[in-house]
Amino acid sequence: TIITNHMPTAELQKLDAAHHMHPFSTQNELAAKGARVITSADGVWIQDSEGNKIIDGMAGLWCVNVGYGRDRLVQAAARQMAELPYYNTFFMTTHVPAIALSQKLAEVAPGDLNHVFYAGSGSEANDTNIRMVRTYWAEKGKPTKKIIISRKNAYHGSTLGGASLGGMGGMHAQGGLPIPDVYHIDQPNWWAEGGDMSPEEFGLERARQLEQAIHDLGEDNVAAFIAEPVQGAGGVIVPPETYWPEIKRICDKYEILLIADEVICGFGRTGNWFGSETVGWTPDIMTIAKGLSSGYQPIGGSIVNDEVASVIGACEFNHGYTYNAHPVAAAVALENINILQEEKVVEYVRDDIAPYLKQKWEALADHPMVGEAKIVGMMGSIALTPHKESRAKFAADAGSVGYICRERCFANNLIMRHVGDRMIISPPLVITRAEVDVLIERAVKSLDEGM
Ligand code: PLP
Repeated sequence: TIITNHMPTAELQKLDAAHHMHPFSTQNELAAKGARVITSADGVWIQDSEGNKIIDGMAGLWCVNVGYGRDRLVQAAARQMAELPYYNTFFMTTHVPAIALSQKLAEVAPGDLNHVFYAGSGSEANDTNIRMVRTYWAEKGKPTKKIIISRKNAYHGSTLGGASLGGMGGMHAQGGLPIPDVYHIDQPNWWAEGGDMSPEEFGLERARQLEQAIHDLGEDNVAAFIAEPVQGAGGVIVPPETYWPEIKRICDKYEILLIADEVICGFGRTGNWFGSETVGWTPDIMTIAKGLSSGYQPIGGSIVNDEVASVIGACEFNHGYTYNAHPVAAAVALENINILQEEKVVEYVRDDIAPYLKQKWEALADHPMVGEAKIVGMMGSIALTPHKESRAKFAADAGSVGYICRERCFANNLIMRHVGDRMIISPPLVITRAEVDVLIERAVKSLDEGM
């Protein structure tokens, strides 16, 4: 059988469920319902095999920052494939896409983050970070500094290392995670966990857990703290204003490395090039992926500062992936950054579309089903609740209201994601005002249907 877009949807779904195991899915449910088959995309719109035009409120998986249908990226890939489809940068070789992309990343990254170690994905890059920070301290004569402090509900990837750094209970429960020497503090989710505290008090309390952890574990044993500037897959948790300044004070006080996982927040999502700029600190190491290539090619990496690079540079770092700095992925990533710069996409987010979206998004808090509505740049969330004033949760036997709401959005041709009873958006950064209006209209319609 030749399988094409022109096959009946039901047949494609049947073949898919028979042979394709889906990530983060219950395969049997998928086989019963049939996956929606996505056939093409343009701008912020994706199209399915039934011809429905769906507005992609998630930019794929938070990654298609410049939108779909970018011919410049197609051409960059084609040119590079014709010239040099593959070579590696192991064992004293390099190539122009690796050199050019690294130079460009050093230019756009803040401070002295000037050196890039590539990977195929965000998960792989976080695996690199685990080995990199432990090697860093060993090389500095402090081999006991091994523990990496992270946060509950953080998402840092699906490899054993990435999932261990992450704080997702469901992931830890499968496969015997986390790996040793990873420690998790609580997330700053005031809506769900703040109790009677004011957001400001709660922000300080959660930040001070980092200091407590450093004391409990011993400063001599802690290698690094890793965090997403705005926690994404954990529910787009925007911390109270007091949180990040206190975290920064603590990090400045103790000798630990700071890793910003910028896989979602990087490349304009929060209204600056990097989310750490939005929250006011400069990390020692940054994890990047997703928006680096706008998802057109799989590529990730760790950008490290001069100090980390010089320490690691003095030893042989026994680490690498076949697809490190893959030339086609690197060429596409470089062209993607050129687009971000030439079209002033980050400025568009900061000065135009994010303020517009913020006003519409925050108005959702007036809806009877919505508790808080939070947004930073182009990543936002709403908490669904049966009772706003008490910040009540839905009864467990109501099923996942977030899941049901996501399904209603899906039926209304809007992609939104849910985490528990939080609904999330993270649209392409190039979305227009008129498209924001469509997104909000469909979100409200889906919420109304749940009343
Ligand atoms: N880090 C963060 C903050 C992420 O959101 C993700 C993916 O969603 C990852 C790491 C893992 O990246 P990848 O899926 O490319 O391995």
